[in-house]
Amino acid sequence: MASPDELPLRPELRGRSPYGAPQVPAAHRLNTNENPFPLPAELLADLGAALGHAALELNRYPDRDAVELRAGLAEYLSRTSGEAIGPRQVWAANGSNEVLQQILQAFGGAGRTALGFTPSYSMHPIIAAGTGTGWADGHRRADFTIDAEQAAAQVRDTAPDVVFVTSPNNPTGTAVALETIGRIYDATTGVVVVDEAYAEFARAGTPSALTLLPGRPRLIVSRTMSKAFGMAGLRLGYLAADPAVVDALQLVRLPYHLGSLTQAAARTALAHTDALLATVDAVKAQRDRIVAALPVMGLTSVPSDANFVLFGHFLDQAKAWQALLDRGVLVRDVGLPGWLRVTAGTEEETDAFLTALGEIAPDHR
Ligand code: PMP
Repeated sequence: MASPDELPLRPELRGRSPYGAPQVPAAHRLNTNENPFPLPAELLADLGAALGHAALELNRYPDRDAVELRAGLAEYLSRTSGEAIGPRQVWAANGSNEVLQQILQAFGGAGRTALGFTPSYSMHPIIAAGTGTGWADGHRRADFTIDAEQAAAQVRDTAPDVVFVTSPNNPTGTAVALETIGRIYDATTGVVVVDEAYAEFARAGTPSALTLLPGRPRLIVSRTMSKAFGMAGLRLGYLAADPAVVDALQLVRLPYHLGSLTQAAARTALAHTDALLATVDAVKAQRDRIVAALPVMGLTSVPSDANFVLFGHFLDQAKAWQALLDRGVLVRDVGLPGWLRVTAGTEEETDAFLTALGEIAPDHR
């Protein structure tokens, strides 16, 4: 079998490995920031009926513009942010990864550059490479926060076409102040994408960038149903922006990109938003429990507004990762020296994680 590198592959893809967390069997899988709670029974029942109904029309192409679904998403965003967001401001695709890819197809591409503040979601540079977009690393402080002044200066110097701001940030959990996002926006003529995949887990007083949308036609806020909604398997991501952004994305989206079963399932899920999001407080409580337990073990964490915690410091995080796995707990080594990332989930998962961590901490910190 030939390796991809022996094929006439695009040079920027040569030698790369596909993205993905190592899928290692473990009793407690706390490595991909999923929501561990099962879907509410009444949603499951409604899903069966809705999918059965949608299946009757599977000989037809889906609604290309997902009008009903976008109206439901707009209603959810308006209700939770207090910002009036209309259906023409919302766009949906198969996971927010596809939303981000469409953004780069429309606003990035050959000869253009995207900038993101590293360390952040590692798919941003990968999607940039896949769309032929150049990449620039923006700086963070040692505590992983973004200095507004420095960020704006760097954006001005680099003149990127697309700026990614992940808030709350993956893998650090760090939320970005709205004022910083505003400063970054003012420093660029490109589009600014605030990736809010984890927004629903933010602590009180950490507002969404949705409130910045009025008067900022180059600002895009992306969201997903994979995390707080607990529907990672559905593959439903979406964004809110000026209607002109949505019109631009329709130039690059594949026709009928969002299947009718996906649209039906997502619409049904939105009708059960309150029951679905009832798990968010439970997850946040486990996150805060992890944060509180770490100092007792001589460890520390980065303040988190997400459903995960970046924790350390370890002498060698790869060895600490293996020691936790040996005790049945799978966390994520994101390649940051001294740090590991753990997903907050059920109380039982936190029990198992903290017990294992207590055992290994003395040998690894
Ligand atoms: N953005 C961030 C910051 C993420 O961490 C993830 C998932 N790991 C995504 C986007 C993509 O999520 P999805 O495609 O499932 O919506």
